[in-house]
Amino acid sequence: MTLEGHERARRRDAAVRAAVEQGLLDGDQLVAALLDTAGIRASAAALRAAFAAVTDAPVLHAFAVKAAPLVPVLTLLHAEGIGAEVASPGELALARAAGIPPERTVLDSPAKTVAELREALALGIALNADNAQEVARLDGLVAGATAVPPLGLRVNAQVGGGTIGALSTATATSKFGFALRDEGARKALVGLCLDRPWLTRLHTHSGSQGVPLARMVAGVREVYELAEEINTAAGRQQIDTVDIGGGLPVNFGSDEETPSYEEYARLLKAEVPGLLDGRYGLVTEFGRSLLAKHGLILARVEYAKVSGGRPIALTHAGVQVATRTVYDPGSWPLRIAAYDGAGLPKTGPDVVQDVAGPACFAGDLLARERALPLLAAGDVVAALDTGAYYFSNHYGYNSLPRPGVYGFRETGADGQVSFATVREAQTAAEIVAESGGAHRDALL
Ligand SMILES: *Cc1c(COP(=O)(O)O)cnc(C)c1O
Repeated sequence: MTLEGHERARRRDAAVRAAVEQGLLDGDQLVAALLDTAGIRASAAALRAAFAAVTDAPVLHAFAVKAAPLVPVLTLLHAEGIGAEVASPGELALARAAGIPPERTVLDSPAKTVAELREALALGIALNADNAQEVARLDGLVAGATAVPPLGLRVNAQVGGGTIGALSTATATSKFGFALRDEGARKALVGLCLDRPWLTRLHTHSGSQGVPLARMVAGVREVYELAEEINTAAGRQQIDTVDIGGGLPVNFGSDEETPSYEEYARLLKAEVPGLLDGRYGLVTEFGRSLLAKHGLILARVEYAKVSGGRPIALTHAGVQVATRTVYDPGSWPLRIAAYDGAGLPKTGPDVVQDVAGPACFAGDLLARERALPLLAAGDVVAALDTGAYYFSNHYGYNSLPRPGVYGFRETGADGQVSFATVREAQTAAEIVAESGGAHRDALL
């Protein structure tokens, strides 16, 4: 293991022990989500350094808010020089609540309403139009505006999908963006830009987890070549910025951060040198790779039983916090770490067992047939690498509450772990209120 991976695992073990000692899993708090603030800061710094090393042009790194829609996380990233990529009015509100200024925010949703477009223009937030109908709406809005923020087009380079269909956005028939390879599409796109001098950006995002680096780079190359074609036809540098999206895959199999931002930036430099020679500003929109390795879900084991010869640990973390893993375990396996009731790493011979959640359907398993020290009632399990798209994106099945989220850091020379509340745990009263509690007799 690298020193960095080793350090991450050490910090995690210290945090689990401190979480148990400090009572984060006491009383009715049966699940707690932790975020490693030092790790998040390190990833943000690595991202900035990786691109600063390959281009002198301005680069805006905009965090894909959907990966961790938590205001304190956005504020922390902003303090580390990272802006926000938003895709809904809710996400925009979160970015604004975090104090992220308009010029560090990018709006990308595929279904923006006229009201959303108008608001983005009024606020000065850059956006990427998804299709020709959206461009027609922009025509009307831009005509009446005194100043417009940077406006671009989302392009589907149709370079093909990755291993996870639901997350592959560059297939021939993807719902996103202007399809570049459809008959006549390229010529139409160039013409559309030449008619609108205020279109100054191109955007592409070939997919998330499961798309190999080479395919991501191929998508970026296609869009760079389109930018060059538009600029040549315009006789000036109309397209001045390329938004390369996010999608750097995350290694869910170990504590290493692979592939790295440095590797991706170097590959871009080697394969698309013109994009990085200083003529083009860049926007990036990484989500998962900034947060995934820095979050974990802790849950108590309530019971340990055996069914059909299979040991099963019944825990309080399942589909509500690990939705993708539960519904599509093949695509989203999670590492599970076992701790005893005091929060110390559990030892003992590995036993093949299931780690189950609390929800009322058979598939609600965090892990199946996993070799771990045999779990017992009162132990603690940790679902690792869940800092992006897991506990932050709660699924309300069985009215299971959103867990509290706590950021941790080591303070002082003694390495004492301290926690800061990022999000309170949801209460039963809040669940009732969100479930029509105020309208009890509405249907009588
Ligand atoms: C989801 C998404 C991202 C972030 O993807 P990650 O895989 O989390 O890096 C970036 N841009 C767009 C347009 C997206 O839809």
